[in-house]
Amino acid sequence: MSLCKSLSGRKKDCTVWEFFKYSESKEKSVCSVVNEKTGENCNAEISGKNPTNLKRHLQAFHKEASESVKTGDGERELTKKKKMNDTEDVRNSQTIVDCLRKNKTSWPVGSVEHMSRQNAMVDMVIDSACPVNFVNNTKFKEFCSSLDAKFQVPGKLALLHNLEF
Ligand SMILES: [Zn+2]
Repeated sequence: MSLCKSLSGRKKDCTVWEFFKYSESKEKSVCSVVNEKTGENCNAEISGKNPTNLKRHLQAFHKEASESVKTGDGERELTKKKKMNDTEDVRNSQTIVDCLRKNKTSWPVGSVEHMSRQNAMVDMVIDSACPVNFVNNTKFKEFCSSLDAKFQVPGKLALLHNLEF
């Protein structure tokens, strides 16, 4: 069992401050590592609260405490790296989706998928009485492709052809 775990019960939060108490009045950090032989606190006083100095004291006098602080830092470092990797995964998968969009294969004209979308569009044109030219609008086409990149918006002529039925 690591020293840090025994003190805090949470190994991952182990910092050098698990072993020191800072005294504002003295402006010194007091070592609270228990000496296993005597059962008393070390109580060594280190000027200031620079973690580097405190770690140096642990390294020199309390090997086990020093090791657990190092482990704690290492684990935090790993967690940070893992989070960065996760973000990168998301970015990669988004790129893949983007790639798929760019290399899109459209629904074949006449396929159920294509026809159901085209019929909905015909219904929209009829029901809203909007000009048939509207379907040639670039922004409208972009809107459609943002909903379903595989749907190739029929042009005005194709739509008129449908309206005749
Ligand atoms: Zn000490």
